[in-house]
Amino acid sequence: MIKENVSQILSKLPPGVELVAAAKTRTPQEIQEAVNAGIIIIGENYVQEAEEAFGVVGNKAKWHFIGHLQTNKVKKAVQIFDVIETVDSLRLAKEIDKRSAVIGKVMSVLIEINSGKEQQKTGVLPETAEELIRQIAALKNVKIIGLMTMGPFSENPEDSRPYFVVTKQLFDKMKSLNIPNVEMKYLSMGMSSSYGVAIEEGANLVRIGTKIFGERSQK
Ligand SMILES: *Cc1c(COP(=O)(O)O)cnc(C)c1O
Repeated sequence: MIKENVSQILSKLPPGVELVAAAKTRTPQEIQEAVNAGIIIIGENYVQEAEEAFGVVGNKAKWHFIGHLQTNKVKKAVQIFDVIETVDSLRLAKEIDKRSAVIGKVMSVLIEINSGKEQQKTGVLPETAEELIRQIAALKNVKIIGLMTMGPFSENPEDSRPYFVVTKQLFDKMKSLNIPNVEMKYLSMGMSSSYGVAIEEGANLVRIGTKIFGERSQK
């Protein structure tokens, strides 16, 4: 099933849109199967799960962190991941900078935008994003390469559209500012139910779990 699902999705993605297989709760074997089917980017929400999967799949795929990163997990995370998609504070960025410097790496990151302005939700508010981006841009071992958003969850993908639009507008604005050490290359938006809408609104990185691996059991 994983193989068929991956082929199906890949065949329908427009050129220039890259697929992240959101792999939380999946076994390393399932992830390996997805990679064999043509997945080249794995998205992980938990550092420990990523470590186990990385032990099996290794560098045959690129690894994106898409969960909420605690500072005490940064040291491990910078060793495994190619991109951290969920940077939303200077404190976290500074820790990533420090730990990356130790291993001689420049960590690529996306800034997570709280496009729904939800309380107690991760991500920086759209109106404070520029300030945060300018601060992070000054860090030597961190490189901003785009934005990511989740938006409020809804069964109906159309409900997500306004949040994708807001994030795309911010993306275009940040791009036009030409901030040194900031490259607005990736706009990561859309999941299994909403990726069609996200692509219509400018996403070029979509994060899909259920449509690749099937329904998740509770976790
Ligand atoms: C789980 C997850 C996804 C994928 O969700 P599906 O609905 O299973 O496609 C995408 N992005 C993030 C941040 C996730 O945690």
